[in-house]
Amino acid sequence: MEREIEMSGVSSNEPSVDTGLSALLQAAREVARNSYSPYSRFRVGAALKLSNGEIATGTNVENSSYGLTICAERSAVVRAVAQFGPQIHIEAVAVANLNDAASPPCGACRQVLAEFIAPEAPVIFASPDGVRTMPFRELLPLAFEMKTK
Ligand code: ZN
Repeated sequence: MEREIEMSGVSSNEPSVDTGLSALLQAAREVARNSYSPYSRFRVGAALKLSNGEIATGTNVENSSYGLTICAERSAVVRAVAQFGPQIHIEAVAVANLNDAASPPCGACRQVLAEFIAPEAPVIFASPDGVRTMPFRELLPLAFEMKTK
């Protein structure tokens, strides 16, 4: 069954978010419980709604060599490709954390998402002013693209 996804703008009350994105946000929250974050204790989850109807989730996995840490969003993308193949298309993204903190996708994750996501796909995340939904193109207006001559 296809769920309807709409933009809902900034909202501090989650019930005002449409049901498709609310379910995706809930999936992100649930997977955040599996976070491996012994260093920061910042527990993050991400859920991707794919065009094949599936939801792929990921969580952050930290490392004692901090730079090797992978964020929840990239973890979800890697999982989606591993599970469904390289042709995945992301229709919506939800990012949640269990720390009551803002957690918009970081720059690296935005670039990785750009490989598979439609410009208008909604991205829902905790922002400093509440839960916010933005089209992906506003999060990363000038994504790098490999174009050789
Ligand atoms: Zn990231």
